[in-house]
Amino acid sequence: MPAFDLRTVILMSSVMPGLMALVMFSLGRGFPANIRGVGHWASGALVVSASAILLALRGGVPDWLSIVAANLGMILGTGLWLIGSQLFFAQRPSRRFVSLLLGAGVIAMSWMTWAQPTVGGRTVCMSAILALTYGADGIVMLRFGRESNTAIFVGAMLLAQALVTAARGVSMFVPAWASTGLFSADLVQKVYLTTGALMSLTVTVGLLFVAMDRLRNQLEQQSFMDPLTGLLNRRAFLSAHHQEREKAMRTGGLLSLLLIDLDHFKQVNDTYGHATGDRILIDFARRVADMLPAQGHFARWGGEEFAVLLPRLRPDEAREQADRIRQRLAQKEDASLPAYTCSIGVACMAGADATIEQLARDADEALYGAKRAGRNCVLVSDHVILL
Ligand code: GH3
Ligand code: MG
Ligand code: MG
Repeated sequence: MPAFDLRTVILMSSVMPGLMALVMFSLGRGFPANIRGVGHWASGALVVSASAILLALRGGVPDWLSIVAANLGMILGTGLWLIGSQLFFAQRPSRRFVSLLLGAGVIAMSWMTWAQPTVGGRTVCMSAILALTYGADGIVMLRFGRESNTAIFVGAMLLAQALVTAARGVSMFVPAWASTGLFSADLVQKVYLTTGALMSLTVTVGLLFVAMDRLRNQLEQQSFMDPLTGLLNRRAFLSAHHQEREKAMRTGGLLSLLLIDLDHFKQVNDTYGHATGDRILIDFARRVADMLPAQGHFARWGGEEFAVLLPRLRPDEAREQADRIRQRLAQKEDASLPAYTCSIGVACMAGADATIEQLARDADEALYGAKRAGRNCVLVSDHVILL
């Protein structure tokens, strides 16, 4: 086996997470506030990096730096990773658990460096603590990051590192394997330090990817979602219409558009306040979404106006659907909200005619008619084809 210069291995492994931490800090600053934990991951990587450099300088700098500070730094850094992961997945951060491990580390490292120096004791103690932080972090990643392959990968790496670290601790009790010092050339120490080097880099890069994954998903979602109601926005609705129209043209089916406008909404806002108005819009969206068939598309058209696209319905079925919506909304369900009603205009036509402009023009005319007819009612466009 070629001889490893373990000091170089540690030094190399210490610089990379530090650089990654800087990248993570600068990217994390531009992240939306609801993506939490990235700052903790970056700080953790920086602390792990600095600690590894101190470890690598063993013998060249005072023991309190290269043993006590370096080991405590490892606990703090991996603890920050754990807290970062918990914040990232909206879990309660184990700050007390990490503080406890740090406290135990301070006492154990000081005692075993100055009062009763023992390399083996320190190794066992640090292995136990780090196996806990790595393991807990790995479990958080695997448990809450199931939908992201990167999170699963990082979680698996953290668990592997927890196992190697624990094995290193246990090996101290086997006389033939027990390592005699940080840079001793025994197999356990080689495996531990090289996997540690690989791991700290892989985990930091992995964490960065996990954060980027989340950001990408969020931006993707935002690009087709109305932020207040969670419904499709107009752009996404247009794209859904495009697809449905092509389908309708291929199959010869019909397309229906319901334009729904809340009645006297300005007055509702003036009487109960804009915040209550917003809650009504959310309540409206939830209740209507509940009633729609699976193939329907539901969007916030703008302000207090909403659009529903229903493929494959006959005009009378579209009208019935609209009337069910109107009737249900006229019934008060949430006692904390004022009663409100809506008017609905319906347009229905064959795929070839059903451009969004034509559908919207007809539905809007019908909606205007419904308002003039006294509101809280449904009107179907005159242009509807009679089958
Ligand atoms: P009509 O029955 O004729 O539809 O009367 P209206 O008062 O609903 O009609 P108008 O279009 O004059 O007023 C719409 C109101 O909707 C005005 C605006 O303040 C309110 N609105 C639009 N968007 C929002 C929103 O996001 N939140 C709240 N709270 N109000 C909104
Ligand atoms: Mg209105
Ligand atoms: Mg309006």
